[in-house]
Amino acid sequence: MRNILEVDNVEIRYDQAILAVRDITFTVPEDGFVSLIGANGSGKTTTLRAISRLLELDRGRLTRGAIRFDGKDIAPQSPHALVAAGIGQVLEGRRCFLPMTVEENLRTAAASLRLSRAETRAALEKAFTRFPQLADRRRTPAALLSGGEQQMLAIERALVREPRLLLLDEPTMGLAPQIAETILETVATLNRQHGVAVLIAEQNVALTLRFAHDAHVLENGAIRLSGTAADLLHHPEIWSTYLGLP
Ligand code: ATP
Repeated sequence: MRNILEVDNVEIRYDQAILAVRDITFTVPEDGFVSLIGANGSGKTTTLRAISRLLELDRGRLTRGAIRFDGKDIAPQSPHALVAAGIGQVLEGRRCFLPMTVEENLRTAAASLRLSRAETRAALEKAFTRFPQLADRRRTPAALLSGGEQQMLAIERALVREPRLLLLDEPTMGLAPQIAETILETVATLNRQHGVAVLIAEQNVALTLRFAHDAHVLENGAIRLSGTAADLLHHPEIWSTYLGLP
């Protein structure tokens, strides 16, 4: 299977000096579900924001290596162009417009991407089919949704343009276990049935390894371990460091 994303020997610094990511290399196949695992500050968010080119908003910069999406270097492309090319991103925290209703949130996302009326209608229909809970609450302001529903909405905002690669930054953070599972199950279905490649940053290691195909463990900005999710689930270091067993 062809790789939709190639992260090749990447080093990232903030403000020209602070080294946040050191020599990271990994790929995401077109049908892949890849997880970046690591504690706070290990470099997950930095890596995801480098891929969508939002990093520059944080005064961060690739100082070595290259990132290629669909075979093309992302360096000359704007964040907007990358969305148009097929990258969807769910940022850390639940990024919805809180005073707007569920439907308004989705319509705003569609409008910002200049979707036609028919495309917008189709996107809304798909969103409400994937998460029927959102359909029930379509006229409810996002501020009144539960944490899980806000995350569902944030994911649907990223899916409005039908991306080929979905980046998710800790989508289960702060959610009850059952809701966290529903979120990852839906992401896995998107991957399996709709062929959307997934790159997810997670601290919930046990849960993400149940759904991902491959995973990379980040520590201090470098990849410490890589493997299939099944292999990592049995790795003693994963157990001792992330799953809380000796
Ligand atoms: P979290 O779960 O807290 O988001 P993370 O694994 O995503 O953690 P990053 O946020 O990517 O880690 O942080 C990697 C390193 O880069 C950390 O040392 C952090 O302090 C540093 N860093 C992150 N953002 C900035 C910034 N805007 N300016 C300077 N340094 C930063």
